[in-house]
Amino acid sequence: RRRRAPAHTMQQTLLRRLLRPAAAAATAATLGCYGCAHAMRIEEDAKLDFKDVLLRPKRSTLVSRSQVDLSRTFKFRHSQRTWTGVPLIVANMDTVGTFEMATTLAKHQAMVAVHKHYTADEWKAFVAAHPDVVPYVAVSAGTSAKDLQKLDDIIVGCPAVATICLDVANGYSEGFVTTVKLVRERYPRHTIIAGNVVTNEMTEELIMHGADIVKVGIGPGSVCTTRKQTGVGYPQLSAIMECADAAHGLGGHIISDGGITCPGDAAKAFGAGADFIMCGGMFAGTAEAAGALVERNGKQYKQFYGMSSSTAMTKHAGGVANYRSSEGKTVEVPYKGPVDAVLLDLFGGIRSACTYIGAATVKEMSKRTTFIRVTQQLNQVFGSHDLAKPGG
Ligand code: 5GP
Repeated sequence: RRRRAPAHTMQQTLLRRLLRPAAAAATAATLGCYGCAHAMRIEEDAKLDFKDVLLRPKRSTLVSRSQVDLSRTFKFRHSQRTWTGVPLIVANMDTVGTFEMATTLAKHQAMVAVHKHYTADEWKAFVAAHPDVVPYVAVSAGTSAKDLQKLDDIIVGCPAVATICLDVANGYSEGFVTTVKLVRERYPRHTIIAGNVVTNEMTEELIMHGADIVKVGIGPGSVCTTRKQTGVGYPQLSAIMECADAAHGLGGHIISDGGITCPGDAAKAFGAGADFIMCGGMFAGTAEAAGALVERNGKQYKQFYGMSSSTAMTKHAGGVANYRSSEGKTVEVPYKGPVDAVLLDLFGGIRSACTYIGAATVKEMSKRTTFIRVTQQLNQVFGSHDLAKPGG
C-alpha cells in the first residue's frame, strides 16, 4: 500500500513542478518553510532618510523670503476643530516639553506637546495664568490607567485645552488602538494626536479608530537608541511620504517626529508631506528647557535625555525594569540661551527653502518639491560647529 506523502512534501513537489527551480526557491524563501504562513521578506526598494536627498531649486516669482507664510490652517477629521499656527511642535519630553517652552512658542504661534509629568494642579495654575498659550499646548499621556486618569483630571480641570497627545514608543499594539478608540469616545471634540508608527496601514488604523493626527517616527530621534537596541526602524523621509499619503487619503494629518537636526531637515519633512514637524534635540540646551546649567571647563551645558533612557526611567519610574533595556541616551548640550534664537534660525531656514523651490506657503511645499538623491550633503571641512550660532 502506498503511503500518502505528508502535506508539506506534497507542496514542495507541486512547487517544483509548477515553477522553474529559481522561482520555486524564491517562493519557498518567501513562505519561510513550505506552506507556512509566517515569512521572512526583504523589501528591496530603497527607503530614504533626510541625508539621502536634497530639494531641487525651481524658478519662482517670490522676491523675498519675508513673503513666505509659515502658518497653516487645518481642520481635523474627528474633532472638527480648526487650528491655525506654525506647524511646529516641541516634543513631549520632560526636558523640552515644558510650560516655559510653551509660553515662548505660543508667541510664535507654534505648539508644545507638554510632557506628562506635570500634575493636574500644575496644569490648572498654568492655564489660569496663561490663557493665551492654551491653543498651542497639547496634554500628553501614555496608555496606563494612571496616565489616563491624570489626562481626565487635566481635561476636566482645564476645559480650554483642546489637544491630546497619546504617545507610546510602539504604536503597533492592539492595546494602543483600543486606547485611541476609548479616548476618542470619551472626548469626541478634542483633537487627538496618536503615535508612533511608520507605515501606511497603521496610520490608517489609528485614524479610523479616532486619531486626527498620527505621529510618525520610530528610531530617528537624537537621543533614541531603539534602532541600536532592537534593529527596528524606518528611514524617516520614506516614512513621512508613505504615512502622509495614507493619512491625507482619509482626511487625517501627520507629524514627522524625530531626526530633524537642522532647518534643512525640517524643509525636507514638509516637502515630503508632513503637516507638522516635532523636534526635541533642537530645543535642548535652551533657557526654556528644564534642568540646571552645569559648567565644565568654563562652558555651560544642559542635560538632555530620551524618555526611555535610564535617566528618565530612574527619575519617573524608580529605575529600569529588569525585563527591559533603556532605549534612549543621556547627553549634555551646550547652552543656547533663550529659545527665540533657535526658532528664528529654524523659521529663517524654512522660509529660504520656500523661496528656492517657489512655495509661497508651507502648505505649498510638498507640491513644489522634487527630491534629488545625493551621496553627499554638506562640506564638513570645518566640522559641524558654527561659533556664531547659539550653542556653537
Ligand atoms: P529629536 O527631535 O530629538 O531628533 O527627536 C525627538 C523624538 O525622539 C521625540 O519626539 C520622541 O518621539 C523620540 N524619543 C524621545 N525619547 C526617546 C527615547 O528615549 N527613545 C526613543 N526610541 N525615542 C525617543
